[in-house]
Amino acid sequence: MTKKIAVLPGDGIGPEIVREALKVLDCLRQDFGVAMETEDALVGGVAYDAEGHPLPHATLSLAKDADAVLLGAVGGPRWESLDYSVRPERALLGLRSELNLFANLRPAVLYPQLADASTLKPEVVSGLDIMIVRELTGGIYFGKPRGVRTLDNGERVGVNTLIYNESEIRRIAHAAFRTAMQRDRRLCSVDKANVLESTELWRQVLTEVSKEYPDVALSHMYVDNAAMQLVRAPKQFDVMVTTNMFGDILSDCAAQLTGSIGMLPSASLNEAGKGMYEPIHGSAPDIAGQNLANPLATILSLGMLFRYTFHDETTADRIDRAVAAALDSGVRTADIDSPGMRRVSTAEMGDAVVAALRARAN
Ligand code: NAD
Repeated sequence: MTKKIAVLPGDGIGPEIVREALKVLDCLRQDFGVAMETEDALVGGVAYDAEGHPLPHATLSLAKDADAVLLGAVGGPRWESLDYSVRPERALLGLRSELNLFANLRPAVLYPQLADASTLKPEVVSGLDIMIVRELTGGIYFGKPRGVRTLDNGERVGVNTLIYNESEIRRIAHAAFRTAMQRDRRLCSVDKANVLESTELWRQVLTEVSKEYPDVALSHMYVDNAAMQLVRAPKQFDVMVTTNMFGDILSDCAAQLTGSIGMLPSASLNEAGKGMYEPIHGSAPDIAGQNLANPLATILSLGMLFRYTFHDETTADRIDRAVAAALDSGVRTADIDSPGMRRVSTAEMGDAVVAALRARAN
């Protein structure tokens, strides 16, 4: 049966960047015989405008029925005054929890062609290739009790709960070890086991699971040190695995090492390998509708989709190589432009990737 991708362009630059990823998919269908169906649905602010909810029932059913989801971005100033329960960003939380997408994979790769884009010295970041595996559906962002309440003496208290059960840790550990097996086989688990009991359990479970992966070298690091090491000597890392909140912070730090938010894809996976794939950036309302956005993070997200859900390394490698070849040809969207390069629009960057793919097909 032909595989199906649910395509959710969303808000702001979402439709522009997803359109370019679909051009790449069309080329893969026509020139490389990749069999794949797609079906679109509304998500985020545009879904709220049309249906009164950022994650309409039909969108959620499509996402559940499809083999994978490709998402652009959601949100924007137009919807910022809405109640939290119907804000565009709620759609992401809904999709993550409904599809049980507990493992968030965020690569931070510095393309040699863009070495100047990082704020760190080229010798510190050149050749950087890290994968951060973040637990996405547990920990302090979901733990209960939570909230702000007023004590009898009139003072307010804010509470959040950091809680992980063993099975939650075990499944993200397996996802991280499997990821390490596909790479350089080095896994660094990041915790705060010297202070937080929940992460002491995290460390114990990681150590137990490591016995099933004798080929992977496991190390442990406290999160404060990990933050420091990421900016001091980031190339020491291959795969890092960590809790929801630590991963949120460290993955943004790692993303910034590469200097270009428009280049970074992500995958969020469930136990069966089904995934939602999206660029790490938002809907960029400041440049939406102007054909200025960089579509490469979305195109690279499509590459991750082939790699992690369809286990189609050939197609994934093809997409990655075509992006590198497009950069080699000297085309740059505004966010990654530098002297001597040729400034192009969103659509022209998509065309350059397709041209690079076609050049290899012939
Ligand atoms: P943002 O990532 O949308 O934009 C930050 C800056 O990066 C802006 O200057 C933007 O122009 C630039 N930028 C982002 N993507 C780019 C691209 N592909 N090419 C070129 N430049 C790009 O973050 P923000 O401004 O804080 O948030 C805007 C909206 O997006 C908010 O409503 C926020 O809630 C939402 N958001 C959504 C997601 C998501 O859908 N996963 C993630 C983050 C933020």
